[in-house]
Amino acid sequence: MRRKEFAVSLGLATAGRGRMSREALEAIEKARSEGMTFDDDAPTTGRREVTVTAKDAKPVTVRSSTALGHIGLMDDTYIRYGNDVKFAGVDSKGKKHTVGVANICRNSGYSIIGCRCDSHETLVASMEVITVTEVK
Ligand SMILES: [Zn+2]
Repeated sequence: MRRKEFAVSLGLATAGRGRMSREALEAIEKARSEGMTFDDDAPTTGRREVTVTAKDAKPVTVRSSTALGHIGLMDDTYIRYGNDVKFAGVDSKGKKHTVGVANICRNSGYSIIGCRCDSHETLVASMEVITVTEVK
């Protein structure tokens, strides 16, 4: 239905040429605000579809090693090791320490799982920073 036809159907305009009355235009605006569309509406007044995909809803912050199971989802995060890889090293007292990939490497400031350095150094339980190597 065209706007003019709508106005005519309400008795607010007469068919044929000629400007529509303000009452007719107001009735058209009201109908449009209630969701009605007219064949001669300008294209820019058409409804825009806003699609929210599941991807948008995904959390982007990874806080714990348990979240690292979904490696495929983390597009922007570099993953070097498997989730369950362990690293071990010895402190100045000869005590052996084993850490997981979530430990922060001092060389990069990132978790070992995403650290690109050659020799990870990390804080262990004895409050020392020691060099750790992958436990094979
Ligand atoms: Zn490192």
